[in-house]
Formats: sequence, C-alpha cells, structure tokens
Amino acid sequence: MSLVAPHGGKLVNRILESESARSATQEAASLPSLVLSPREQFDLEMISIGAFSPLTGFMGNADFESVCKNSRLANGTVWPIPVVLCPSNQQAEKIQVHQKLALKDAQGRLLAIMTVSEKYRHDKDLEIPNVYRTQDEAHPGVAQVKKQGDTCLAGEVNVIQANYEPEFPEYRLPPAKTREAFAARGWSTVAAFQTRNPIHRSHEYLTKCALEMTDGLLIHPLVGETKSDDIPANVRMDCYKTLVEGYYNKDRTMLTVMPLAMRYAGPREAILHALIRKNYGCTHFIVGRDHAGVGNYYGTYDAQKIFDQFDVPREIGVTILKFEHTAWCKACAAVVSVKTCPHGPDQKVAPSGTKVRELLKAGQRPPNEFSRPEVADILIKWAQSV
Ligand SMILES: [Zn+2]
Repeated sequence: MSLVAPHGGKLVNRILESESARSATQEAASLPSLVLSPREQFDLEMISIGAFSPLTGFMGNADFESVCKNSRLANGTVWPIPVVLCPSNQQAEKIQVHQKLALKDAQGRLLAIMTVSEKYRHDKDLEIPNVYRTQDEAHPGVAQVKKQGDTCLAGEVNVIQANYEPEFPEYRLPPAKTREAFAARGWSTVAAFQTRNPIHRSHEYLTKCALEMTDGLLIHPLVGETKSDDIPANVRMDCYKTLVEGYYNKDRTMLTVMPLAMRYAGPREAILHALIRKNYGCTHFIVGRDHAGVGNYYGTYDAQKIFDQFDVPREIGVTILKFEHTAWCKACAAVVSVKTCPHGPDQKVAPSGTKVRELLKAGQRPPNEFSRPEVADILIKWAQSV
C-alpha cells in the first residue's frame, strides 16, 4: 500500500527549521520589507507546506507565460493558474534583482525571506482572458488581478511563519500530515471534496458516492480568502463538523481545511484544486456542476470538460469523479441525478438559492430533503445575525 506521489514527484517544504529560522529572523532585520496582500500570504502558506508542489516560490516569467497560455509550467508540468508576487508599482521600482526581501504580513510580522531572482512585467492582458475566460471586472478573480501591481517579483521563499493567526489550527493539516493520517488509517485511495459552501443533502450524496469507491473521504473546505458574500468560514466549519459528527462514518472520513485563496476561475481552478489534493495525498477528486465558478461566466460542466485536454492519469495523476447535478426526488425517495432517475423536475426538491436564503432569514428550515435540520439551524442563526 502506498500513497499517490505529489505533483512533480516530491513534496516541497519551504519552512525553515528552528536554527535556520532564528538566523533568518536576525538577517531580516536589515532587509527591505515587502508587505504581502492577503492572497499572496495564503499563496506563501500553500507554497511553504507543499500544497503547491512543485512550486518552491513565486513564479518567474517563463512559467507565468506558459501557465497563462498552456496551463503548464515552462518544463511542461501541468499548472493552470499563475502564482505571482506583485507589489505596488511604487514599491516594485525600488526593488532590484538578486536583492533579498523580508516578506511581512499586514501587521508587519516577518513571514519569509525571498531572494528576488527575476523582475518582470505583469502581463495582465495575457493572464486575464486566458485564466478567467472573461475580462469583465465584475468577475472577482479578474478584479483581483486588475488591482495587483504591474510588476511581478519571482524567487524561492524560505518561510519562518506563513500565518500568525491561522483559522482552525487543529483542522489545518499540511499535506505531510494528511498523508501521515491516511497511512495510519491504512487508506491508499482517498476522495477529496472541495467546498466553500455548507454541505447540503445533494453534496453529502456526492461525497458518499465517492466514498463507496475509495478507502477514505477527505472533506476539505477552502478557508483562504473568499468573496465577501460567501458564507464565512467559521459558520461553514460549524456546519461541516455537525454534519460529519451526525452523518458520516468517522473511521472513513476526515475533515481538514485548506488555506487557498479562491480565484473563481472555474475550469482552470478545478485543475488547480485537483493537483493540490494530490499533494495532500488524495487519489480521487470530486468535480460537480459549476466547480469553482461564479456568476454565469462558465458553462455548467466546463470544469469537468477541461480535464479532457489532458492525459489525466499521467499528467494530472488524480481520478476525476464527475458528477451531474443532483437533488432529492420525491418519487424515488432518494437523492438522484438525471443519470439515475426518470422523473421530471416537478418531483425534485430543489429550492433556489434565493428561496433558501429567504427561508433561513425568516428562521425557517429548508426542506429536510434539501438540508439536514442540524445544518439548517446553524445557518438560520447566522442568517438572522447578519
Ligand atoms: Zn426519481
């Protein structure tokens, strides 16, 4: 029994050991500082723990261009979204290639040291249409790129501490730890479920279908930066914990979190999410409808179709579990999809998002066939408090 190899073959670790961290901290005192944006800080954390393996730092120009154009690093390894460090133009002007920088958080705490290996123009006209398939500034991912500086700084990072106030520390397992946990449980096949929403009955169904095929299930919510109208991570965590406690087999299910900043890049982000989960030790990845999308920028199943462009076993290395839209069917008395049920929409319990929000706000549970009552109650409490 062995776990899946990380992307690129080796699990990256850019966190300095205590001795090196001490001397790096001393050295940092005399270095120019650069304060990271929230996204850059989450990216730094993902690099440091190996969740972004094989990346060891912020990307150089050859990788940036190749990623934008071909969804691959310059060496051909699949990688769909740029991971770049783009300070303000004013700051970028003062920074020279080969210079060492102390990377800091918004409170001025030292995160990492980076030697600038390259400084290049941030080609947003290349990045935006290729990665996001739109140039509309109403798209939250596009808006973020437009806000970034016009220069990218590349370099490997040596991390002292990527986050001084990590949310959910007891659930924030890095890839090395999830891998250990899977091995300890004797799992060699593990299905990962990415989510940034509460899990309702239809998604519970997908995760359990996946678990029927694998040794274990990793419920892996994203707790990095999300857009302001997404449900806050602490509310979602309460929902996940309650659901796992009440309705999942604990010997077969793990709940941990992932500190990735959402890009809302739909299809391209689905690839990123799959590669990251491989690094965490997962062999299977669930892609439902509208994965990682926002608004109507992407077709319902675009995030599934994009995998057809790759030799998935060789280049992605994760089995992609593609699911149709699912909902409770009154006639079948089960959660079904168009694949499995012959009945029409009139038999489905599928209230719209707007309807669900109205119900919650009014203190009413959506139907039990849509949402578990325990989850509904947590959401009601939150909906009535905002
Ligand atoms: Zn049916």
